[in-house]
Amino acid sequence: MDEIAEAIKQTKAYYCLDCGKCTGNCPVSLFDKAYSPRVMVKSVILGEGEKLGKTRLLWSCLSCKMCEERCPSDVQYIEFQRRIRGVYRDLGQREFCSHGGAFQSLMRIMTAPKLKQNRLGWLDKDLSVSKRGEDLYFVGCLPYFDAFFEDLNVHTLNTARSTIRIMNGLGIKPMLLENERCCGHDMLWAGDEDNFKRLAEHNLKEIEKSRAKRVVFSCPEGYRTFKLDYPRYFGKLKFEVLHLSELMAGGSSQNPLSLGRLNKAVTYHDPCRLGRHMGLYDPPRELLKSIGDLELREMYHNKHTALCCGTSAWMNCDLASKQIQMMRLREAKQTGAQILVTACPKCQIHLTCAMKDTHLGGSLDIEIRDLATLVADSLPSSKRKK
Ligand code: SF4
Ligand code: SF4
Ligand code: SF4
Repeated sequence: MDEIAEAIKQTKAYYCLDCGKCTGNCPVSLFDKAYSPRVMVKSVILGEGEKLGKTRLLWSCLSCKMCEERCPSDVQYIEFQRRIRGVYRDLGQREFCSHGGAFQSLMRIMTAPKLKQNRLGWLDKDLSVSKRGEDLYFVGCLPYFDAFFEDLNVHTLNTARSTIRIMNGLGIKPMLLENERCCGHDMLWAGDEDNFKRLAEHNLKEIEKSRAKRVVFSCPEGYRTFKLDYPRYFGKLKFEVLHLSELMAGGSSQNPLSLGRLNKAVTYHDPCRLGRHMGLYDPPRELLKSIGDLELREMYHNKHTALCCGTSAWMNCDLASKQIQMMRLREAKQTGAQILVTACPKCQIHLTCAMKDTHLGGSLDIEIRDLATLVADSLPSSKRKK
């Protein structure tokens, strides 16, 4: 098949040495002995991929990029896996969805051009936004997660409110898109390029209409998707793409914030998309360290070795996912930190979900906070305005 040959060529899979370093470092392989990135590459190269393509193993990879850190041949495994998924999707295979496929359905509904959404009902009166300006905040799927995961007490919309509060504190009144759609990240990684492109085209058109010069993201997946994937499919973007931590730490603002104090020990969980995918390890840490009295304690696996949160793109949440999540929570507890901070709403959701497993009897309980809300809560009270 041409697409498979192309995927092998483009991702350097031909250079695979069959060394197994990927499998030895893969968090999924650690708990699910049936899954091996080495075997996946070898099978596809030998033309035996079809057998694997029909199993759940096609959807097991978390695209966490840990294997790529260790591969001596620079095989781009996550892109290889993504392309192979696309090939088998075209042949009728489908991803194993968590939550009955609710999120996949939602994303596909969002591709409808005439869809009307009430996306901004959550905007509190004290938050300042503009109809026109240079800066736009891309909210992403936070409003949907907030409704869906009410029972987990993970209030993802507070991340959106906090991001705007921080931007206001920096003297920025961001624009928001009333007709924003999912960035398409999950469709892309499930090999559904057609729906990814529909969502992306819609968002790009809306942003073009807004004439924004900078688009700011609190979500690492949206950030990665706009920064790497949109240009790959649609050419150079006409606006700058920034993560909130870059906006705050990168000196791009004329009004840097001085943050208050928090006399607590915290540990930071690097979301794969922000860390290994985009190399943003330090800006979130610098941001945390700029909170007075806060002590940052690193987990055993941190920065480029950080463990994934165990589930990706709402696919394949299984026993291995739970074991990865528990391992991560155990590492966080071992630091003695009172708070586990992450910058990704999905990491927050998945880790909270694992923590609430009744079989654990609360043994892995730890307060999990989102970076933006922690920072916004440390703003001087004049800028916090709750
Ligand atoms: S680490 Fe790289 S070279 Fe080694 S088996 Fe995995 S893909 Fe092949
Ligand atoms: S990207 Fe992560 S989950 Fe996928 S094969 Fe590599 S290490 Fe395993
Ligand atoms: S970890 Fe929990 S919230 Fe995340 S996909 Fe699995 S079941 Fe859903």
